[in-house]
Amino acid sequence: MPAIIDGKQTAARCLAETAADIAALRVAGVTPGLAVVLIGENPASLAYVRSKDKTCRELGMHSRKIELPADTPQDEVLRLIAELNADPAIHGILVQSPPPPHIDEAAIVRAIDPRKDVDGFHPLNVAALAMEDPSAMVPCTPLGCLELLRAHDIATAGARAVVVGRSLIVGKPMALLLLRKGTDATVTVAHSRTADLAAVCREADILVAALGRPNFLGAGHVREGAVVIDVGINRVDDPSAPRGYRLVGDVDFDAVAPKCRAITPVPGGVGPMTIAMLMGNTVRACRRITGKC
Ligand code: NAP
Repeated sequence: MPAIIDGKQTAARCLAETAADIAALRVAGVTPGLAVVLIGENPASLAYVRSKDKTCRELGMHSRKIELPADTPQDEVLRLIAELNADPAIHGILVQSPPPPHIDEAAIVRAIDPRKDVDGFHPLNVAALAMEDPSAMVPCTPLGCLELLRAHDIATAGARAVVVGRSLIVGKPMALLLLRKGTDATVTVAHSRTADLAAVCREADILVAALGRPNFLGAGHVREGAVVIDVGINRVDDPSAPRGYRLVGDVDFDAVAPKCRAITPVPGGVGPMTIAMLMGNTVRACRRITGKC
C-alpha cells in the first residue's frame, strides 16, 4: 500500500505555525493584512475567495474581501490595486484568477507592489525565484507541493523529477523549486507537445501532475515506487454527489496508487497546502514591509 500524503494534516500544522507568527506580530503592534479581489462570479473562484477570507479571520489576520462586478473596467481595478498598494493595513494582495476576458491579467499583476505580491506572479518575483534570491515571493501551490515533500521526508537531492505542465502558476515555478540549490532534483518539464509523455513520466522518482485533465495520468505513466504529487483539481459530473459533481485530480488515483511509494489524494492533498502557503506568504510580506519580528 502506498503512503497517502495527507495535505490536510500538513496544512493544519503549517497554519498553526503561521497563527503563532501572527500572534507574535500582533504583540509587536502589527496585524498582517490580506486583500483578496474577485472580479465576476465564477462559482469556483467565489468558493476559493471565501475560504481564504475565512482562514485569514480564523488565524487572527486582517482580511479585506473585495467582490467586483464582472463588467468592472480595467482602470477601476488598477485604481483599487493602487489604493491597496498604499494601504498600510494591507501586506498581501491577490487578484483571483481567472479574471473576466476584458481584464488584462498580466497588467493587473504588474501593478501590484512586488512586496505585496503574495501569489508570486509579479515579474520581479518570477525573476527572484529563478535567481534563487531568498527574498522571492514564491507561488503558493508549488511551494505547498515542496512543503508536502519535506514534511513527508521525501528526499529530493539527486532524484529525477518530472513536472507535467508549464504554466506560470504551477509548472514553471514547481520546476524551479525542485531544481534550486538545496532541493537539488534533476528536473524535466513536460507539456502538451512532449513526445511519448508516458515514457518521460516513467523516468520520474517524483512525478508532479499539473495539466488540468481529469484522471489523465494512469498506471502506464508511473514507475514502480514513484512519489506522485497530483496538483489537478477538476470538477467531473456525478449525479450521485450532493452538488452534482465531484473533484478529481489529473492522476487516475485508483490505477496509479498501487504502484506508488507515496501519493497525494484529491481532494485533501495539494489543495489545502495552497491556502496554508498563502497565509505564510502574507506573514512574510508583513515582516518584510514592517521590519517587525
Ligand atoms: P494550465 O495553465 O491550463 O496549464 C496546463 C499545462 O498542462 C500546460 O502547460 C499544458 O501544456 C499542459 N498540458 C495540457 N494537456 C496536456 C497533455 N495532454 N499532455 C501533457 N501536458 C499537457 O493549468 P494550471 O493553472 O497550471 O493548473 C493545472 C491543474 O492544477 C488544474 O487542474 C488546476 O485546477 C490545478 N490547480 C490546483 C491548484 C491547487 O491549489 N491544488 C492551484 C492551481 C491549479 P501546453 O503549455 O503545451 O498547453
